[in-house]
Amino acid sequence: MIRFFFFLVFTTAIFAAQVDRYRWDSGLTYLVFLEQNNLPTKELYYNLDTDNQRLTDEMRAGVNYQILRDTNNSIEQILLPLNDELQIHLFKSKAGYEFEAIPIISETKTEAFTTTIVSSPNYTIMKRTGSKKLAQIFTANFRNSLNFKNDIRAGDKLVMIYDQKYRLGQVFSMPTLNAAMIEMRKKYHYIYLNDDERYYDEKGHEVEGFLLARPVRGARISSYFTKRRFHPVLKKWKAHLGVDYAARRGTPIVAAGSGTISYAARLGSYGNLIKIRHADGYETRYAHMKSFRRGIYRGKRVKKGQTIGYVGSTGRSTGPHLHFELRKHGNPVNPLRVVQVTTKKLKGKEYDAFVKLKKNYDQSIDLHIKNKTKFVKLPTFRSQCYIHTTPDATKNKEKKNG
Ligand SMILES: [Zn+2]
Repeated sequence: MIRFFFFLVFTTAIFAAQVDRYRWDSGLTYLVFLEQNNLPTKELYYNLDTDNQRLTDEMRAGVNYQILRDTNNSIEQILLPLNDELQIHLFKSKAGYEFEAIPIISETKTEAFTTTIVSSPNYTIMKRTGSKKLAQIFTANFRNSLNFKNDIRAGDKLVMIYDQKYRLGQVFSMPTLNAAMIEMRKKYHYIYLNDDERYYDEKGHEVEGFLLARPVRGARISSYFTKRRFHPVLKKWKAHLGVDYAARRGTPIVAAGSGTISYAARLGSYGNLIKIRHADGYETRYAHMKSFRRGIYRGKRVKKGQTIGYVGSTGRSTGPHLHFELRKHGNPVNPLRVVQVTTKKLKGKEYDAFVKLKKNYDQSIDLHIKNKTKFVKLPTFRSQCYIHTTPDATKNKEKKNG
């Protein structure tokens, strides 16, 4: 079995090796990155299987990555985080350099705060927490049901309870809103994240979020979404960041939601690719297309259900299918969790379970208001990072913390 060892490394060269943190530049590709660092493209790209090659397209601008160098300044290990769960690990071995995809270990903390609103909720949350992401998740979930512009009064309060991921003391990835309350003209409004991973108001009505249509009508799903999965036969970590719809070549593909086309061209293993930008930081991607529909180009606005192109097998593909992806703020999301036709009203057993969940959150919210819970920013350690060790790399190094 694979065992993972973790230890902390400081840039102050505790182990006579140095870890440096970098930011992934916009426009930088994985292949160029390898070349810039004099790393072998054959072993670390061309010899990889399709899934791993596609993972290398996942590096996003602004992402922090780490390089561990030995005393001769030669690269020993590199960690490239792809999403909140999976990262690419490049490491030196006897044979040369090797590639593997491994999970990111993070810790989730439930946090909460309450505050008096100054002007807009967005401004207030930004001012109190310094976090754009917290402001985003709050406003995005209330936006469709409330009008913040007219109904906020000085002295109104809001409460947020959310999960935040940490990776060795550093805030990591998008927080998840669990429950929130906003007071508007002395009236309290709530939303709760239910066990079905959708948001409901205090009456058990679903708060309308992003509604997605199926991009290929009547097609069979041939591969499901997974951010990370340990492949039992290959004994490797794999990811499939979209849903595959098997369909005959030439079957029309429709826009899953209304938005603006932000990309319509060939892109590496994706083949002919269309990206559509939607509201609230959502983006959908349609890959391996045979061709685009006439008049579909970058900058064009499309409506939900409108045909944008046709099923094909361009790029790295074994047969005609649509590889469909959904991203939220760049992070891959399972599209099947979002596909829905109408908003839901909870009934029966589901409603009873929701009432229990709601009661717990209501008690927490009341307590936070009573205690005037303030937002607390945890201290971060800039120089600290961790390297996922390989059997080869562990030999000369000390192990710390599990
Ligand atoms: Zn796929």
